[in-house]
Amino acid sequence: MKKIDVAIIGGGPAGYAAAMRAVHYGLSVALFERQQLGGACYDSGAVPSKILIEKTKGMLQLERLRQWGYDIGPASLSFEAAMNTVRQERAALIDELHEAIMRNDIEYVPHEAFANTNLTVAAGAELYNATDIVVATGSTPFVPPVAGADGPGIHTTDTFFELSTRPEKLVIIGAGIIATELAHALALIGTDVTLLNRGRDILQTEEPSARPLIEQRLRQAGVNIVMNVDVERFEDGIAHTTKGPFPYSEVLFATGRKANIQCVEALELQLTTAKTLAVTSTMATSQPHVYAAGDVAGGMQLAHVATAEGIQAIEAIVGNRPAPIKPHVIPRCVYTAPEIASVGILEHEAMEQTTIVMIPLLANAKFHMESNQRGFMKLICAMDRETILGACIVCDGATELISIMSVLMAKGTTVSDMTSLIFPHPTKSEALGELARMMQGKGLYFNDDVSVSNV
Ligand SMILES: Cc1cc2nc3c(=O)[nH]c(=O)nc-3n(C[C@H](O)[C@H](O)[C@H](O)COP(=O)(O)OP(=O)(O)OC[C@H]3O[C@@H](n4cnc5c(N)ncnc54)[C@H](O)[C@@H]3O)c2cc1C
Repeated sequence: MKKIDVAIIGGGPAGYAAAMRAVHYGLSVALFERQQLGGACYDSGAVPSKILIEKTKGMLQLERLRQWGYDIGPASLSFEAAMNTVRQERAALIDELHEAIMRNDIEYVPHEAFANTNLTVAAGAELYNATDIVVATGSTPFVPPVAGADGPGIHTTDTFFELSTRPEKLVIIGAGIIATELAHALALIGTDVTLLNRGRDILQTEEPSARPLIEQRLRQAGVNIVMNVDVERFEDGIAHTTKGPFPYSEVLFATGRKANIQCVEALELQLTTAKTLAVTSTMATSQPHVYAAGDVAGGMQLAHVATAEGIQAIEAIVGNRPAPIKPHVIPRCVYTAPEIASVGILEHEAMEQTTIVMIPLLANAKFHMESNQRGFMKLICAMDRETILGACIVCDGATELISIMSVLMAKGTTVSDMTSLIFPHPTKSEALGELARMMQGKGLYFNDDVSVSNV
């Protein structure tokens, strides 16, 4: 049996970050991965989806260039070319990650691992005994029980990015972030997309004022959005639903994810009601010396959260008593066009009275220069109009801009402090300064848009 300091099960953003942090402290580490280093994030999640989305947004850029007078004839992007790029760029990123793992002298074990009692981990033919274990096994797509859902042409994101020919008629089940992002991307390059949504709105976890805008963009791109519908069965290329039949060549289930907990069943760890591993603020599970990080530990199932949690677990293992991760300053991003990015609370999530200012971006010079059409920023404060509780940005580039608000909130910046910041001109970030001034009733362009939410 091999003796090590830390056994890390899972090589995604939680696991590899934990491994890299552990070696900084001189710990001996084994990183177990049953599939692909980088985890679902690199294989079938954030990385391939955002590469594809970035490439297909080129179609919108071409449209803009035509408006600016560029003489561009009809253009198209073949799915095959787009997916080749996805695979090449994904492979390059995975190679870089491998290099980093090797540079850090991390023992990489490309096998499925099972944790047993007494802190032993079995992988391949080898048995490891660890002082501590970090469970970073991530999640896999959840597919609701629908008759025929295991039939031909029916995918989850696990298999979708391996397609080599463009789906002619794609039915997407769900209308959350993954569903809307991919619906838009595929529609932009000519797939006939239908979004079947059980709810009555798309993007229900996101800023309500952004939803109609994204819905309009999806419809403009040709996406057929069907709300309040339930899928009953799949048969012979037809999705039979409560609102009639929808023919498909491919189906993509984007109906949530479930935590991978099979490999730690022997440890009988306490679970949450969502069947994720229950953890403390230092990522400790219900068993001493066993920690969990990333999607398997529930919470916000995002790659950057997984990385922060992996690091947090190691800090706790070395006895550094890390401060709890602050969920209210973690940015959340949707890569539609325009992008939606938020941090802190949204208006409808406020538990107490709040003051809200919203600025349309039409008076913003950079927004105009880029020929954007609609977009806004929103700032949510406590009734003192000083304490920042949340922010939402809806425009191209929102996913980069939101970090400004995240930093300000993490540092406890007040609205008064924010008004003293000078943002460069012309940038979209200037509108953040105007939002702060508006919150004080001193907006240069707008002043009457202060609303009070009475929840
Ligand atoms: C389509 C899609 C788009 C997304 N887009 C974004 C985005 O834009 N931004 C964002 O922040 N997040 C995004 N996410 C979410 C993000 O991918 C996850 O939150 C992130 O991958 C979680 O990291 P993790 O390390 O917890 O788990 P994972 O990335 O799932 O990695 C876990 C790894 O553990 C391995 N494993 C499991 N069990 C064992 C075992 N017994 N032995 C060995 N190895 C094991 C798995 O093979 C896997 O490689 C997206 C997800 C999807 C599906």
